[in-house]
Amino acid sequence: MTTTIQEDEPPSGHSSISISLQVPEWKKILRKSISNSKEISKLFNISEEETRKICEKYPARITPYYASLIQEKGDAVYKQCVPDIKEITDSFGDEDPLHEEPENQKRKNVPGLITHRYPDRVLFRISNQCAMYCRFCTRKRKVGDIGKNPSWDDVVQGIKYIEEHEEVRDVLLSGGDPLMLDDAVLEKIIKSVYEILKQRKNSIIRIGTRIPCVLPQRITPELCSMLKKYQPIYLNTHFNHPAELTEQSRKACSLLADSGIPLGSQTVLLKGVNDNPETMKELMQGLVAMRVKPYYIYQTDLVKGTNHFRTKVEKGFEILDTLIGNTSGLCVPHFVIDAPGGGGKIPVMPDAILDINDKEVKLRNFEKGEFRYPQVSE
Ligand SMILES: *Cc1c(COP(=O)(O)O)cnc(C)c1O
Ligand code: SF4
Repeated sequence: MTTTIQEDEPPSGHSSISISLQVPEWKKILRKSISNSKEISKLFNISEEETRKICEKYPARITPYYASLIQEKGDAVYKQCVPDIKEITDSFGDEDPLHEEPENQKRKNVPGLITHRYPDRVLFRISNQCAMYCRFCTRKRKVGDIGKNPSWDDVVQGIKYIEEHEEVRDVLLSGGDPLMLDDAVLEKIIKSVYEILKQRKNSIIRIGTRIPCVLPQRITPELCSMLKKYQPIYLNTHFNHPAELTEQSRKACSLLADSGIPLGSQTVLLKGVNDNPETMKELMQGLVAMRVKPYYIYQTDLVKGTNHFRTKVEKGFEILDTLIGNTSGLCVPHFVIDAPGGGGKIPVMPDAILDINDKEVKLRNFEKGEFRYPQVSE
């Protein structure tokens, strides 16, 4: 698959901070990404007018690296990155089903970049850019919108909030993709958060990023040695299909793991991409072999423009049933539904408990055998 060079340079981060003059390799690759609808329609042989309409509403960007993983039209990699007319023709869903928008938070007095849903941790959305715009993204309404890129003032407000809320011991840097920021900008934010958190017990910083999967070249030794200074720092990435486990992504994960950064991965359950137990088993085993611990499988959120990716919840149960017992426990993530309306993540399980009373618990194992476990008498 060939790509052409794009004229406009993707934004590199907060303009208030100067960037070094030498352009790193990953930025050169990012610049070669395809994001205009004409190029996309030509490359994938799809309608130019339809593509333009979709991209006006929901931006696209495909890194040449990710595009090179496409084997054929409509495959698992293709579906994740190439715009589909159903994004604008299917009106099912909500723009903000998880109630993350500032309007939804105003009553709580939380700054725009922070979501504080759980008692001891916050989501801090420090970037609106991603290397690749996943067509199923929960933040579809926001990502890629350059006008809405956070300003340094917004970031400062977020840091202030963390400082003022002593109950926060876990800060999850998210976006968009935080690794779209330059190392210097990223370090400035991480350092500020680190200085605040280090006064608190059992504090951690987490980075949520799809970069190891879509632009693994961004994971450089320089980035890793910077991150390493702010331990404990966890990195949670996002892989959805075994085809994404390549030499390059493996190398990116190795660099991070060798720097002492524990790695996790979240996967979104997507129709036509990974809604099959064997694919998921291969993905989870592949991740663990790359030292990445599968963390969550998400049921698709009710986001407008993504309904064509939704599967029945039972599909997730079937996948979990195939994983549990049949493969290493390390390969089994939690299956979660992020409750519409801001209820947060709810882990769901296929029923292992068939019956429970004062005397005993009746259990079902992975081979569908029934077992009894007697209760302690009180
Ligand atoms: C997912 C999420 C977190 C982190 O949740 P964990 O279950 O601890 O990984 C924090 N805040 C928000 C708003 C989230 O959506
Ligand atoms: S990388 Fe994450 S935030 Fe960015 S488009 Fe994909 S799912 Fe959305």
